[in-house]
Amino acid sequence: MTARTGSTALGPGGPNAIAVTLGLLGDEWNLWILRHAVDGCRRYGDWMGRGPISNTVLTGRLGRLTEAGLFDRVRYSDRPARHEYVLTRRGRDLWPILLAMWAWEKDRDPTAALPEMRHGRCGELFSPVTACADCDRPVTRAAVTAALGPSGDWTRSVPASVGRRRSTGARRPSPYLDRTMELLGDRWSAALLGALMMGGSRFTELADRTGAPPAVLADRLRRFEDAGVVTAVENPERQDRVGYVLTARAEAFFPVITLMIAWGQRWFRAPEGPAISLTHACGAPLRPRLRCDRCGEELRASEVTVEDG
Ligand SMILES: [Zn+2]
Ligand SMILES: [Zn+2]
Repeated sequence: MTARTGSTALGPGGPNAIAVTLGLLGDEWNLWILRHAVDGCRRYGDWMGRGPISNTVLTGRLGRLTEAGLFDRVRYSDRPARHEYVLTRRGRDLWPILLAMWAWEKDRDPTAALPEMRHGRCGELFSPVTACADCDRPVTRAAVTAALGPSGDWTRSVPASVGRRRSTGARRPSPYLDRTMELLGDRWSAALLGALMMGGSRFTELADRTGAPPAVLADRLRRFEDAGVVTAVENPERQDRVGYVLTARAEAFFPVITLMIAWGQRWFRAPEGPAISLTHACGAPLRPRLRCDRCGEELRASEVTVEDG
């Protein structure tokens, strides 16, 4: 076991920090395991007691998350040899992302079976607001400029696992982060979301930017329309020029993406340089922080408590 304090150096020309991040967070079981780890789960039995996860799935995911430096595997018993999984600094650093995802899901669907969160400092039930650490103003797509960096090539920004499917059938996490998974749960959805967020609009443009085969792209656009993430708008002058624009629901997910990018580039570094640089309207490189919408204070994991309804 090694102390994991620094960032991981990625190989030259390979997947960049965004691809690694999407590979880890575009998986509903990983998110589910991490969410419960933040809430205190460390041992197999802890997770098995929280939901319908199978031994095989749990073993596989814990192995992968440990390899990525999110958990340390620590022996707690010699006879028999047993290990527990303790979040590293890198793993604990994910909680703002999980919290922002939760808030976005809850906002979209107040009936979703999601817990309430209470801010210990002010004592109120709250929603997190993503704000710029430099000027305190909210992070919105309109207030952020994105520039691709030296490792930002599209082909390097999507996870290599082609067509990884969402798990189906009975063995699924409870309806936790369902909508987030519609956006991030497979490489083409994630690539499409990125292309739209970067300002892509026409079909050919989106096909070009994502590298998705036309049939796949058409399918993902249809799914995004069904999920209320994009709307198709016709160009009155050119019938063949249908454009796709993000809805308010999708725009509200933008802060989550900035948190993911910040986390990814903090912990995984491509030798060529960053994949993307985000600048806030105030002129500072974007450092997104979560604040309480009630008292305005910056949120800390130790001051947030989950209240299951
Ligand atoms: Zn700012
Ligand atoms: Zn507060």
